[in-house]
This record gives sequence, structure tokens and C-alpha cells, in this order.
Amino acid sequence: MTTQLYIDGAFVAPKAGGSFPAVDPATEEVFDTVAAGTADDIDAAVRAARTAFDDGRWSGLSASARAGFLRKVAEGIRARLSDLAALETRDNGKPLPEAEWDIGDAADCFDYYADLAEARAAGPETTVDVGDERFDTRIWREPVGVVAAITPWNFPLLMGVWKVAPALAAGCTIVLKPSELCSLTCHELARIVDAAGLPAGVFNLVTGTGPEAGAPLTDHPLVDKIAFTGSVVTGRKVMQAASAGIRTVALELGGKSPFIVFADSDVDKAVEWILFGIFWNKGEVCSATSRVLVQRELYPRLLERLAEEAEKITIGPGDAEGVKLGPIVSCSQYDKVMGFLERARQSGARLVTGGGRPEGLDTGYYLTPTVYADVPLDAEIWREEIFGPVVCVNSFETEDEALRLANDSPYGLAGAVMSKDLDRCDRVAARLRAGIVWINCSQPTFTQAPWGGYKSSGIGRELGEAGFDNYLETKQVTRFDRDGEWGWYLPTGDQA
Ligand code: NAD
Repeated sequence: MTTQLYIDGAFVAPKAGGSFPAVDPATEEVFDTVAAGTADDIDAAVRAARTAFDDGRWSGLSASARAGFLRKVAEGIRARLSDLAALETRDNGKPLPEAEWDIGDAADCFDYYADLAEARAAGPETTVDVGDERFDTRIWREPVGVVAAITPWNFPLLMGVWKVAPALAAGCTIVLKPSELCSLTCHELARIVDAAGLPAGVFNLVTGTGPEAGAPLTDHPLVDKIAFTGSVVTGRKVMQAASAGIRTVALELGGKSPFIVFADSDVDKAVEWILFGIFWNKGEVCSATSRVLVQRELYPRLLERLAEEAEKITIGPGDAEGVKLGPIVSCSQYDKVMGFLERARQSGARLVTGGGRPEGLDTGYYLTPTVYADVPLDAEIWREEIFGPVVCVNSFETEDEALRLANDSPYGLAGAVMSKDLDRCDRVAARLRAGIVWINCSQPTFTQAPWGGYKSSGIGRELGEAGFDNYLETKQVTRFDRDGEWGWYLPTGDQA
């Protein structure tokens, strides 16, 4: 069955009638067909969102009325948690328990922003002392308008929800364009939104490819804000498109995040967090701790334990019992990752374990958990985001050296540090040039806390209050409070 687009409160076929297959990466079989929207559909969706914003059918509601709708969406997601998780696993390949986390988080995200919208509306009005008592100055926050949201395939529903929930809570209307590699759970989100009864045009979904649907969305003159998550290469194009209309952008891009392990760490705890940091979600995680730096004294022992444990990881289809590593999302991504491994042979890096197809899994895009050590600092695998289950490990001697190596990257999304010395951890956290730092752990992500990167990893923050502010404009409203006290041109009061 082919999915449909959701525009102006109705499910419709794409105007050009195109579609593309949804492929199960565990079996390489086509299991569904996805509607391929193009520029005409984007235009219809943006116009619907524009009208819905401009006539106030959404922004004109009270925060608690909007929150009520968002809570219904949260309930709708929760009621379908198991089938949405199963669909995510089939479309993306991730282990089912991880898909269940994602879907649960998506529901919680709607609830969180419903609460925040109400709390903000109930809070006091912000006033500023401008140093001149004749003027009364207030700061109002208003929805930014029509949002274009473009998202990747690694957390297909959740990355969409990180934008949709705060944007709607803030009073914006939105057009969501998910990744063509995994569009199906976002299509289900449209059904849930529809069932929750949101006014037509407030939420719109156009599935399609980057060039055919994504690019026209970023170019559309009626869009006020572009919220993008994806690669640096596409992020650059999005920013260029936004510059034509001076539209604001929020960019959540790639990473090559370091994990610094000091010698006083418990080796098994370090191995556990390194494994989680790089192999959960198959390493297809923007914040994956893909560069590990281990203090010299612990380096040989840690590598030995890491290889032992990596080799024990159960690999297979995401819905099989006990699987911790599913297939890479698609044939093209598989080829991309294998290309990195091929070129790594010439780099001088030492392959410790992995790097090939697991035994007995001849179909599906599987790769064994891969560990490289002694990686030259100019090697492509050390510098570039691979976005797969591949980790590079190097050693260091001193805290300064660890920080120099960790910060020597164009990226700055996340970083992690492990040591029993918490003062040292804080010192390192302060000097890491990254938007997120984990101490004695890796990857925990909270709806309540800001998420985003330094340097080429992006602009702006999602989640938490910052994620809500992303969708607000700031307005200064200044009132002159004294009759007849200005008089620059016309004499007033006593001078008259
Ligand atoms: P991608 O850049 O290839 O695609 C992302 C989205 O952009 C897709 O929907 C795609 O269709 C669309 N797109 C492609 N070309 C476009 C164009 N010219 N104009 C507009 N849209 C276009 O990224 P991907 O492969 O889907 O996702 C992986 C990347 O996402 C990785 O680099 C990863 O680090 C990053 N990511 C970042 C975060 C974060 O929070 N920082 C989270 C998840 C993923």
C-alpha cells in the first residue's frame, strides 16, 4: 500500500503521482511504498501552513488549548507504542527495545512541550528597566510562523517530534519532510495528529527525496524558519537556501565525538560505556562517541577487553530476541561505511576486531562491531563521521594532550570523559569544545536538557526550554508613559 501526504488536514496523493520503496534492511525486501512529494506538493503544504498561521486558528488559541491537543497526540503515540516501534525497527533496522525507547520518548516530548507552553503562558510578563522612567518596556515572545522541518533517518519519528512538538507548542504551523530512507513512522504521526483533531493546515507532512521535496521546502518564500537535522553537506545547502530569504535556521548536524578515558577508570565500566557510545542504534547516532582516547597505562588492557566484549555482541534483525546490533539502514549507507573501511586499510590504522560481514548473515546490511587502534591522526576514519558501528581508539599521556586531541576536529557535538577524579572530569568538561559533555557515561539524552553542537555540528539547540525558544520571535513593546514630556519638535507643557 502506498502512503499518502498529509496537507491541509487531508491525506492526499502526490500531485506528480510518484513513489519510492521502503526497504527492510534486515532482509533487503521491499515491504511498503512511500508517496514521493515534489515541489507542487511542498507549495500546497506551505500555503496551507501559512494560512493556518496567519488566520490565528492555532496561534490564537490559548496555550492550554494547544497543550490539550499536544497531550492527545502524546496519548495517540503511547497507545500505538508497540506497533510504531515494530514499524521503526522494520524500516530502520534498529533493535526493537531501542525503537521502543524512541517511541516512548516521542510521546514524552509532546507532553513536555504541552507543559512548558502552559507554564510559559502562566509566567509573569517580562519587563526591562531601560533606565528612563518615562518608558515602559515589555518583551513579548511570539511564534516565529511557518516552520519547515527536515529530518534524517536514524531516529525517524523522534527527530521529527523534536521539531514538531516544540514548534506546535509555541504556536507555529509546520511542514515536516522526513528522510526518504525511513518515512513510515512520520506518516503514522500524521494519522495520530489527524485523529487528535488539530485544525487543518497546522501540521503537514510531505514525504519525498531531498532534491525533490527537501530543496523546494528550503527555497519556499512563505517559510519563516527552517529546522534541519542531517549531514553537514546538506546543512550547508540548507543554510545557503535560507540566506536568499534571510530566514532563520536551526541546524543539528554531524559529529565525531571523543570519549576520554583516564587510567584511574574501572576498565569494565569504561568498556560498557564505550560499547553503548558507539554500538547502540548501530552507531548511526550523531553524538556517537566514535573517537576514544585512553590514557597510556590502561590502553592495552582496555583494547583487549573492548575487543572481547565487541565480539560477543548479538547481531541480527532488530526484532529478534537479544539482538543488540541490527543491520545498517540501507544499501547506500552500507556501501558508504564499507568504503571507509576499505580506505582505512591504506591508512596505517590497526584493525582490532570486526570490519566484515557476520557469519551466517548473508542477506541484510550487516557489519560486525568494528574497532580500530593506533589510528593516524590524519586518517579519514579518525577525522570523518562514519555513521556506523565503527570506533577508533588512540592513547594519550596527559590531560592536556587528551584535550588537544579531543578538540582537534571540525565537529563539536558531544564529548565524554571518564575518571574517578571528579574535579578532573569537570576541568575536562569545561575545556571540551562541544555542546554536550557526559561524565562517566555516554549518550544519555533528556527531553528537558538542551541538545546541539559547537563548530560544524550545528547552530542552535533543540530540546529543553532552548528547544521551545527556537520557535519564538522576540518583540520589544515600548510605551511612552508621560503626557507632554517629549517636545523635540513641538513645544509641550510649560514651554507651549
Ligand atoms: P542527510 O543530510 O543526507 O539528509 C537529511 C535530510 O535532508 C533528509 O530528509 C534528506 O532528504 C534531506 N535533504 C537532502 N538533500 C537536501 C537538500 N538539498 N535540501 C533540503 N533537504 C535535503 O542526512 P542523513 O543521512 O539523513 O542523516 C545522517 C546525518 O544526520 C548524520 O550526519 C548525523 O550526524 C546527522 N544527525 C544529527 C543529529 C543532531 O542532533 N545533531 C541527529 C541525527 C542525525
